[in-house]
Amino acid sequence: MTEPWPKGIRCACLLTFDFDADVVWAYQGVKDPVSVSMGKFGPKVGVPSLLNLLDMFDIKTTFFVPAWVIENYPAAVEQIVERGHEIGHHGYLHEPGSSFKSLDEEEEKIVRAMEVVTKFCGRRPIGYRAPYFDLSLNTLAILAKHEFQYTSELMDTLVPEYHIINGRKSGMLNLPIHWVLDDLAHMYYHITARKSILTCGQILEHYTEQFEAIHAYGGLFTLVMHPEESGRPSRVLMLKTLIERIKSRSDVWLTSPAEVVKYWQLAHPVLCENSAAPKTTRVRSARIARRCASPQPPRS
Ligand SMILES: [Zn+2]
Repeated sequence: MTEPWPKGIRCACLLTFDFDADVVWAYQGVKDPVSVSMGKFGPKVGVPSLLNLLDMFDIKTTFFVPAWVIENYPAAVEQIVERGHEIGHHGYLHEPGSSFKSLDEEEEKIVRAMEVVTKFCGRRPIGYRAPYFDLSLNTLAILAKHEFQYTSELMDTLVPEYHIINGRKSGMLNLPIHWVLDDLAHMYYHITARKSILTCGQILEHYTEQFEAIHAYGGLFTLVMHPEESGRPSRVLMLKTLIERIKSRSDVWLTSPAEVVKYWQLAHPVLCENSAAPKTTRVRSARIARRCASPQPPRS
């Protein structure tokens, strides 16, 4: 694919958030107040600060939120929704996919969390990011069955790609990520996970290097951030500098996952490439393909 993006656009950028609060500690049954407070920083300080930053640049994006976090921090999630951002599915109690004993158990948990998001937002989630980036061998089939339009955890491409499920290309996209664009790789520290905390200068250098290289390649830059870490003041200021650098390029589309998915489905319809698709779906796809013969330019 030589021209993945609309005319005049070299690469697309997504600033996404996994709003985990203290769910990881809850999942592990850890109750010590200091560990839990690391998570509580998200709803108390991180989310409001980051929402203000996003507003400053009129950026809309997705916050992937475990259902347990919605139930425990409804005011913070309400703020996210009110400011125009999408809520994505991020498990119920942030369970890794590999922890489920069966497809039925995993589906029951995915549906339960989906219902919490739907009730809270008034519409069902279309996006999913696997907690810990951990998919089971059943997760994608379950999500496709429940009509999710995209996930965001696979690392094997630099542009969106339709998931292959049971040997067939599905209509569900992956928005690629990588550990180097996950803030926790650079920022996280705990007494049980002693590792270096990079300075904001080093992290900005990491992010900028990735942005410049993905821009040169013509791919999708997907930053994965956690309000519990990226919401600290020095890092919010660092992100402001990063956004200014991204926005200084006129050929970059800084947008939301939902907008990229909408564009990709129209500009690169899955079933144009999937001749083995059922006839009814082919007809629908042909209609979409005609409609998207000249895709609308994206809103930046
Ligand atoms: Zn998470």
